[in-house]
Amino acid sequence: MTINQPVYINILEDCARFNATLVAVSKIQPNSKILELYQLGHRDFGENYVQELLEKQQALPPDIRWHFIGHLQTNKAKYIVPFVHLIHGVDSLKLLKEINKQAAKANRKVQCLLQVYIASEETKFGLDYTEAEDILQQKNQFENVSIVGLMGMASNTSHEMIVKNEFEQLAAFFKQHFDPQVHHLSMGMSSDYLLALTSGSNMVRIGSSIFGFRVYQ
Ligand SMILES: *Cc1c(COP(=O)(O)O)cnc(C)c1O
Repeated sequence: MTINQPVYINILEDCARFNATLVAVSKIQPNSKILELYQLGHRDFGENYVQELLEKQQALPPDIRWHFIGHLQTNKAKYIVPFVHLIHGVDSLKLLKEINKQAAKANRKVQCLLQVYIASEETKFGLDYTEAEDILQQKNQFENVSIVGLMGMASNTSHEMIVKNEFEQLAAFFKQHFDPQVHHLSMGMSSDYLLALTSGSNMVRIGSSIFGFRVYQ
């Protein structure tokens, strides 16, 4: 099993056109495939599960930038805070406080994105716009976290207009609160990343189209 290199190159070219970062989502994928991409020069990888991330971080090269893109339980923040590059899914003040506390212990400033709930489905985590605004207003009291942008997941639907609207709303909110030149708007996955980029995303999280389908065991 190998990665799909032509697709990877294509996505990289799309990202370059939009000045966007590609986070290769490697959850459930074997280390061999991660190394394959690493050898092509890729350094940004995204994981969803704490235990799996810890094992991979131990086994793989130390200069990989690990992005935590899943739902992070408050009591598990302490395990990833010492090394994680960017936590995409901060969806409560409680979690932000805990990351801040653990980051102080680890003597780090940890970069975080607030996850905003933009989909019309009930299954995804995230803050609504008011809650996100509320946290942004308090962000200076957390010395060991740095809120460097926003993350969102659009509805899982084939109706492009719905997805586009969700992306564009988040992009507008992002522009009100952040500087797109230096901050991150993490939106777009395998199925919708082009739409995300044209709507204002500058960080996409792509797994299956590069690595192949995930085989859950
Ligand atoms: C799994 C996952 C992705 C990648 O999804 P693909 O469809 O495999 O590209 C992106 N973002 C999050 C939050 C994920 O959980």
